[in-house]
Amino acid sequence: LAKDQGGGISHMFTHEMGERANRILTMRHRMRLALERNEFVAHFQPQLDLRTGRIVGSEALARWESTDDGQIPPGEFIPIAEEYGLIDDICIQVLEDACRWTARWNRLGLGDISVAVNISGRQFHDAQQLVEIVDTALTTLKLPPTLLELELTESSAMNDPENASRVMRLFAERGVGCSIDDFGTGYSSLSVLKRFSLRKLKIDRSFVRDVTQEANDAAICSAIIAMAHALNLKVCAEGVETLEQLDYLRSQSCDQVQGYLIARPLPPQEMEDLLTRGIPASLRLGPVRGAPR
Ligand code: C2E
Ligand code: MG
Ligand code: MG
Ligand code: MG
Repeated sequence: LAKDQGGGISHMFTHEMGERANRILTMRHRMRLALERNEFVAHFQPQLDLRTGRIVGSEALARWESTDDGQIPPGEFIPIAEEYGLIDDICIQVLEDACRWTARWNRLGLGDISVAVNISGRQFHDAQQLVEIVDTALTTLKLPPTLLELELTESSAMNDPENASRVMRLFAERGVGCSIDDFGTGYSSLSVLKRFSLRKLKIDRSFVRDVTQEANDAAICSAIIAMAHALNLKVCAEGVETLEQLDYLRSQSCDQVQGYLIARPLPPQEMEDLLTRGIPASLRLGPVRGAPR
């Protein structure tokens, strides 16, 4: 092609395009292969209930355990998978893995441990497939629907609120919960929010980070907690890394926390060990300190 057109510039151009096309093909090919090999799995980050001091659930986070390249972090493969249209297949693999482990913990009598799975805006948009997969997973694994929760980011929920609301209702009818992830980072319309069939709001970790130093962040966290409770929703704070953050959130009656203080996202067997042994003594909750409830 470059030869026909004769110019050096067009030659370079097509060469570069060829390189790029090649790179994309390789990565696409690798991801397809990884899907066939079931290399996309769930790791589990525990969620601590601040009233009972117990682990009550987990968030499933996608991990690529590549036989060729070891662990590839989600920040690297999720954007690429989105670009190639493979994200849905990957998330389905993660959802099924997450449900499998959660059903096992339920069978083992380790408590009513729920699992929250991240759902992309696109999956929520074309919800038919998602609904079918969830139904199949629940029946074949005998997982109680109330133990499953689907996380949708605030921005994808508000991107198409009519549809989000319809799909949330579909899941609510089944007993499956929905929650809004990264709450506070998007542009929520409160009139829309109140019409959603939700179980939970998750406070984005950017507000939790400086909650004990920045009065504004503290005010935002308290306001989100109060609003969630007024709407009859549970609230979970993400990215809790210190006991001071936990104490503040607890003083404001936040329901649950998730973060490195409790545990990093754990491989399933380590999550199971944690559920079996219970949380370490250093995390046992004492009387509430700080502001009164
Ligand atoms: P997210 O849903 O907001 O997940 C929380 C992220 O915060 C996770 O990153 C988790 O490891 C990290 N994190 C948890 N506790 C702490 C903490 O105390 N401090 C700090 N600094 N970070 C903490 P991860 O696993 O890298 O996932 C990143 C994002 O990728 C997730 O954000 C989620 O949006 C997306 N993601 C992960 N798995 C899936 C999936 O299966 N499907 C979809 N659609 N998205 C996924
Ligand atoms: Mg999430
Ligand atoms: Mg989140
Ligand atoms: Mg987040």
